[in-house]
Amino acid sequence: MNNFTFHNPTKLIFGKGTLTQLADEVRPYGKNVLLVYGGGSIKRNGIYADVLAELEKIDAHVTELSGVEPNPRLATVRKGIELVESHQIDFILAVGGGSTIDCTKAIAVGAKSTDDIWDIISKKGQATDAVPFGTVLTLAATGSEMNAGSVITNWDTNEKFGWGSPYAYPTFSILDPAHTLSVPEDQTIYGIVDIMSHALEHYFHHETTPLQDYMVEGILKTVIETGPKLMSDLDNVDHRATILYAGTMALNGMVSMGYHGDWATHNLEHAVSAVHDIPHGGGLAILFPHWMEHVLETDVDRFKQMATRVFGLEQGHMSDHEFALCGIQRLRAFWTSIGAPVSFKDYEIDASTIEEMADHTVRLSDSFGGFKSLNRADAVAIYQASL
Ligand code: NAP
Ligand code: FE
Repeated sequence: MNNFTFHNPTKLIFGKGTLTQLADEVRPYGKNVLLVYGGGSIKRNGIYADVLAELEKIDAHVTELSGVEPNPRLATVRKGIELVESHQIDFILAVGGGSTIDCTKAIAVGAKSTDDIWDIISKKGQATDAVPFGTVLTLAATGSEMNAGSVITNWDTNEKFGWGSPYAYPTFSILDPAHTLSVPEDQTIYGIVDIMSHALEHYFHHETTPLQDYMVEGILKTVIETGPKLMSDLDNVDHRATILYAGTMALNGMVSMGYHGDWATHNLEHAVSAVHDIPHGGGLAILFPHWMEHVLETDVDRFKQMATRVFGLEQGHMSDHEFALCGIQRLRAFWTSIGAPVSFKDYEIDASTIEEMADHTVRLSDSFGGFKSLNRADAVAIYQASL
């Protein structure tokens, strides 16, 4: 295990009715609040009205930035930064899913740092400060509510980069499972895939981490057990709560102390959605099993462990290689069973953009992936397998 320092300053407020704590959480920061949200789901499900009622309790002056896109865009981040400056914003409140939260992180950091926000996102500049911000999460998926990561797309250059900074932790996040009841079937599937993908990105490394392994496997097994129950009963608030908590735990640093995971599949997916603007979870469901097959020989034992401990399979007379493949096939079958896409055909992506997507995977560095270092040719091979 590597040395590590763990520090996660986000206050997690979880459970039914917890939105009533919002006013007290925002009060210390001031009255000028920028409310950031997406395309309007919060107006349809009533969360918007409840949030405004809470903010009224502290006589907040609310400025709004609406229309944050799924796969949030740099242009929207810049709009937000302008609003922070022109309205002397004291506090930013993100109400929505990972896209709204990621956009808010970029606004918060961009408004207070000397370097330009795109330079910070593309690793040419440094974050130096941020406007304080909190979140009301409405979708279980990214873990952005309790981590310092963010993913932003620049549509002028077709670049989608993940970035992070110690300044990008929310001060608090309110997670009421009831707020996720209105998440439609497809987004629920993408969320489940994203949560499992975060756990899987953690899982593939070369350190000796028995406790962390059990914790990651615990998240995977919980989602594999509860995911299908939720898919057949989307109004079940207990299942929503289980998946919501799993999403936070999968990417808030708790299970990944002392090692670095792989993250090649996230890089491969960001390149796909930078070109095709597909849902993150959909892209991951297609790519992850192919990444696994591509890197299998790096450490077959790791894949055997997944097959045995996550999927409860028995090796019997199979070779190590066959058994490892069996585990990967089981993962693919699980995702298919809940309705996730299985190939690029599901998004009408053909071979014509493979070279372009592969270029994107190596924009920031010639190689990527911690478990096995991959290059552009590997990206092409994985994309071809995904057709
Ligand atoms: P999202 O893009 O935030 O939201 C997806 C869709 O779900 C939107 O259309 C949204 O509608 C809708 N929605 C959200 N909450 C809803 C609710 N309660 N009821 C009905 N509809 C609802 O989805 P996401 O999966 O959370 O975020 C995806 C983004 O996060 C991608 O850009 C991905 O790359 C990034 N990501 C970030 C991290 C991280 O650590 N920061 C990790 C993984 C992925 P409205 O817009 O109308 O609200
Ligand atoms: Fe993700």
